[in-house]
Amino acid sequence: MTITSIRTAVELRSVSRTYGHGPAAVTALDRVDVTIAPASFTAVMGPSGSGKSTLLHCAAGLDRVTSGEVVIDGVPLGGLSERALTRLRRDRVGFVFQAFNLIPALSAEQNVELPLRLAGKRPDRDEVRAMLAEVGLADRAGHRPSELSGGQQQRVAIARALVSRPAVLFADEPTGALDTAASRDVLRLLRLAVDRHAQTVVMVTHDPYAAAQADRVLFLADGRVADQLTGPVDAAGIAVRMARLEER
Ligand code: ADP
Repeated sequence: MTITSIRTAVELRSVSRTYGHGPAAVTALDRVDVTIAPASFTAVMGPSGSGKSTLLHCAAGLDRVTSGEVVIDGVPLGGLSERALTRLRRDRVGFVFQAFNLIPALSAEQNVELPLRLAGKRPDRDEVRAMLAEVGLADRAGHRPSELSGGQQQRVAIARALVSRPAVLFADEPTGALDTAASRDVLRLLRLAVDRHAQTVVMVTHDPYAAAQADRVLFLADGRVADQLTGPVDAAGIAVRMARLEER
């Protein structure tokens, strides 16, 4: 293992992703270089269609790149079989989506246990309960998703994503479906995961307030990193940069 691979949680090296062929081809990512340090919180912003989702999916190994290389936790994804890639995602990557994506028939506790079960491990009940307590839901362990508010469901999803202590947690608009108070709870939890547990977090968001919780904001435009801010970042400064990009 090289020194760079130890020091970075995720690297995109000249990553391009093209959809379709010939004249109809769309270049969603155009030779993007990004290095994400461990225990950092990165926000990804940009106008609609700028490549944010594609970047997140490629960086998480959910989508294959057209050219370039993605390295997660020191492992280059290019040479991996589908099976090895699935295992790497399961063991080293956590995901939180806008739509929570919990299993409706399972309780909060069972949802949090799920990644451990899928990895063939016997869930440690204390560990799972501690995880639920950490997201403020110790007293909701037996509730199904339909018995929880949106904010509570997203906190279960965060507990589920963090329970296997992934090298990186990717969050795709995690506050997009939540009201202001619930959004703040979710952002506080992501910030805590970074500060208290040295978790690495990469989050796509449209919301300058959400992005201001990060240490660094990457701004995409036309599939390229057009600008970036490094912390402490403030929501007003982020909104100005976004407005400039929207005008391009
Ligand atoms: P964002 O998340 O910033 O809105 P996306 O990454 O979703 O941007 O999309 C970037 C570009 O790639 C857009 O032009 C979009 O239409 C195109 N794109 C994304 N996914 C696909 C796909 N599966 N097939 C064809 N084009 C796609």
